[in-house]
Formats: sequence, C-alpha cells, structure tokens
Amino acid sequence: MFWKGPVFTSEGFVGKGINLENCSISNDVEGEENGIIIPLFRNCHTHLGDTLARNEMPHNLSLSELVGPNGWKHKWLENNDQNTSAIAGLKEIINSGTGLVMDFREGGKAGLDVFDGIEYPGKLILLGRPLNNENLPGTNAGISSLIDVKNATEIAASARSNNGLVGIHHSENEREEIQPLLDLRPDFVVHMCHATESDLREIKANKISIVVCPRSNHYFGNKPPLEKMIELGIDIGFGTDNGMLCTVNMMDEIRFIRAEYDSLNLKTILSIACFGLDDIFNKDGTSTYSNMAQSGWVLLSRVEEDNYESIFNPNTEILGIRWRN
Ligand SMILES: [Zn+2]
Repeated sequence: MFWKGPVFTSEGFVGKGINLENCSISNDVEGEENGIIIPLFRNCHTHLGDTLARNEMPHNLSLSELVGPNGWKHKWLENNDQNTSAIAGLKEIINSGTGLVMDFREGGKAGLDVFDGIEYPGKLILLGRPLNNENLPGTNAGISSLIDVKNATEIAASARSNNGLVGIHHSENEREEIQPLLDLRPDFVVHMCHATESDLREIKANKISIVVCPRSNHYFGNKPPLEKMIELGIDIGFGTDNGMLCTVNMMDEIRFIRAEYDSLNLKTILSIACFGLDDIFNKDGTSTYSNMAQSGWVLLSRVEEDNYESIFNPNTEILGIRWRN
C-alpha cells in the first residue's frame, strides 16, 4: 500500500510517494496522487498542563501576572487536574500530525507524573524542574529563567550528569544579559525575542539552539528576530508554548509565521517545523529523529497546485498519519 504524492525532505520535495509498509520513499508509483506527504512535525516547546485553561484565561494580565512564578497559570495548575489537561493537549498534538514534543513540566516530580500512563505514538521529551529545594526530577531540565531560578547552575549540572537536555526561557519580554546564559551552557534557549545581533552571534558561537514561539510572543507584544537567527545559521525549532494561549497545532504556528515574517520562504519555515533542533538531536550523527529513513509521515490534501502554497493554505486537511517511533 502506498501514499502517492510528492514527499517533503530536508532536500525539498522528492519521489512520488511512500510505501506504507516500511515508510521508504518511492519513485516507482503509478496513478493519481493522494496528496502531499510531509514528515511528522516537531513541536519543540509546549506547556501541555495548562491546555484546558484556554477558555478561562483572563486577557487583561501581563506576562508575569499570567505565567510568572506566582501568576494566574500556576494557581490554575494547583486547582485543576493536569492529567486531563495534558491529555487534551496530547490529543491536539496527535491529531495535528506532530511526532516529537518537548514539554516543560512545572511542579516537580508530580508534574512529571502527570504523564504516567498516557500513551502517545510519537516521542515525548519531558523537561522537569525541581520544586523548592528538591533534586531535579527526571532526566532533563526545563528551567523557568535565570531571573526566577537562583540555583539554575545546579539544576543544569544535574541534568547533564543524567545525560539529559537543558532548556531555559530567556529574553522573552525584555533583553536579559547574555553572559550568564552562556555560562549555564544550555542545549537550547526558548524565546530570545529581545536578543541583539551580538547576543545571537554568541549563541551561535556557543552552539546553543533556539526555540521560538511566535504566536505566544505576539500575544504579549513581542517578536523574535527569526530572520536574523536563520541568517546566522542558528539551529532553530518552533514551539507553541502555553497550551492555554495557543493551540499546539504546528500548522497553525507556521501559517502565523508566514504572515508575520513575509521575507521568509515557505520551504525554510516548513523545514524548521519538520526538522527543528536537528543539531541537538543529531550531535552524534545517530539520532533516530534526524534519520529520514525512520521518519513518520503526514498525508495532506492538495488544495493548490504549488506544493508549499497548498501546505500553508488553511483549507488543507490531514488525510492520514503514519506513525513511526
Ligand atoms: Zn515556555
């Protein structure tokens, strides 16, 4: 059994379809196409625990009042069932053809335990944070920020001793000093909306990757310098940030990015959405996420003649998902 149609890879569109048995790309397919085939998306920054706060969230609060350490979101998380909320977020993830999710987990070990027993056919990377003076729960660290967290260095060291990833928010609502961030040596940093060109050059020189979440940033009146990040050749991923602010659907995110950054071409935007943070995952050259021969695939309906225009058209629909992890 085949899905017939052009297949998007890191080299652009190739082939005439994929074999659904083994997911190999085929040039030897006859007959009318079924649609356009793209790899499963990567959502490189989420907070799925607050997905169900979406309908209750007040719209008159500042960034710190809403998501700061003692903000509205944290009160909501204390008073609501995060397991149900995380499941609602993962349903959106699954239905939108996302095969890799990196979720920042608040609330210590209990925050990680929210995902116990939840099945997801893709790869879920949870980045935990300690509550008060506990040790880091889990393998990876998702640190709030250098301003909020005084012992960030210790937390990062714990994650590194586990061979885990270290991620942190930085320069979201205003510029923060770059040197303390470089000293922390995270694998990736989220936001960098107010980074200067010099900050970005330092990030690149120190081989740190960046995740940007343009819809979430837009909500608070911020805009990450995505064009400059791309020009400097920084390893970039896209994320959707808080589930209460934005859907976790990467198709929604990339359509917004297209509208917000009109100098970027659609191939570049789609490549980041499908192959984001490749440098992190492929440091040793053996990552399964970066190996196209092991990718899962999404079949999209064709609504325009041009492949890219069709994918970015809001009328395109997901016709099928072939999971692979
Ligand atoms: Zn975040």
